[in-house]
Amino acid sequence: MIVVMKAGASQEEIKDVIRKAESLGVQTHPIYGENRTVVALVGDLTRVSREIFNAMDGVADTMRIQEPYKLASRTARPDNTVIEVGTVKIGGPDVVIMAGPCSVEGRDQIIEHAHAVKEAGAHILRGGAYKPRSSPYSFQGLGVKGLEYLAEAREITGLPVITEVMTVEALPGVVEYADILQIGARNMQNYGLLQAVGKTNRPVMLKRGLSGTIEELLMCAEYIASNGNYNVMLCERGIRTYETATRNTFDLNAVPVLKQRSHLPVVADPSHGTGYREYVPAMSRAAVAAGADALILEVHPDPDNAVSDGRQSLDMKDFAQLVVSLRRIAEAVDRKVAPPVGAVSPVAA
Ligand code: PEP
Ligand code: MN
Repeated sequence: MIVVMKAGASQEEIKDVIRKAESLGVQTHPIYGENRTVVALVGDLTRVSREIFNAMDGVADTMRIQEPYKLASRTARPDNTVIEVGTVKIGGPDVVIMAGPCSVEGRDQIIEHAHAVKEAGAHILRGGAYKPRSSPYSFQGLGVKGLEYLAEAREITGLPVITEVMTVEALPGVVEYADILQIGARNMQNYGLLQAVGKTNRPVMLKRGLSGTIEELLMCAEYIASNGNYNVMLCERGIRTYETATRNTFDLNAVPVLKQRSHLPVVADPSHGTGYREYVPAMSRAAVAAGADALILEVHPDPDNAVSDGRQSLDMKDFAQLVVSLRRIAEAVDRKVAPPVGAVSPVAA
């Protein structure tokens, strides 16, 4: 249920609603939107009637949220959630580009890649330090060393970093170094991990599971939000179907569906979505045209020698060209690609 407060409701009136709800044994989540404050009530609401709250001072209305995901739903928050990572805003009018190698391969490599992707127009640096590989004999990532190198690349270039956290045990280390925590497709329904990242204050990018439905993805986002962390991005990275011409079936339907059902920013990953670098530019443009708030792309200066996912990694030249074309696509759908990180905006100057 959501309790919609009147435009001029006082802090005391909001607190009264929270106290009342808590006395009835339900969890409360105040959501401060641009035009209104709502208090979302979650938990067992079978014995909680709307009338109790409708009668309270400062309350404009109450509504039952029909969807099983409550905090992630647009009903709870009609305005888009905008997640701020340094100076980068994800979920606002500007399209954000996250780019970098699949894996952090070494110190000099990640610093060189960070400079190169920044130069080409990326806003956030990606790179895996913990890698979920199909084979236990494949490269598993550099672990803590990889995190340290990512942090150093951020210090030098100013690009915030996103990296995957695979286990609850590794979480404190990843939180120490990363600006955005990535939950990989294979961990979408790792509820213990979702609860743990929900208790941190770091933004989270949650990837859709290999056979996860859109509703399951939203329920997993709900696990994170219900633990207190509302800064969740939803990432479409392709699902497994009978099709073998591409690595995954990149479900672009998910983009408008998620934008309709949820206020959370939507990220598209055409690298894992297609698995082949020659398809990545077309599907990146399609994702922006479909309304994605951000792209996450695998980029490597020497893709054929990348330690992981080289086949789907763009080289620097193709990535730079893609960014140029994305600017035109973004404009065609009344958006723009976010200004480069570190640049002074013309309005502020
Ligand atoms: C990755 O981003 O490198 C990755 C492993 O992605 P996914 O979890 O989508 O397979
Ligand atoms: Mn990868």
